Amino acid sequence: MNKPKSLGVDLMPNALDVLATVSGLGQQAVDTIINAVKENQRRLLACEGPHDCVPECTPRNQLVKKYQCKKCSGWMTTRDWVWYQEGLKHGRNQGKED
Ligand SMILES: [Zn+2]
Repeated sequence: MNKPKSLGVDLMPNALDVLATVSGLGQQAVDTIINAVKENQRRLLACEGPHDCVPECTPRNQLVKKYQCKKCSGWMTTRDWVWYQEGLKHGRNQGKED
């Protein structure tokens, strides 16, 4: 796809560059975060499944914010874990209503 051109200004700058600028984190910190996200996605997608997650609880963080799979070490948010379990349940029930 061709990028729009206007007076030599790139109208579609790299979103990560924008994120680094507006967040104040800097390019290196954003790259580190993005690489961690990609590695986590790679682990989750490569997992033999089904994911078997446990909540991440630490003395400082009593409210569970994410779950980690015991098989692949990938992590997901509480919301993602809840919907993943719901999908498994629906998958098991598929075809049983007849
Ligand atoms: Zn897993």
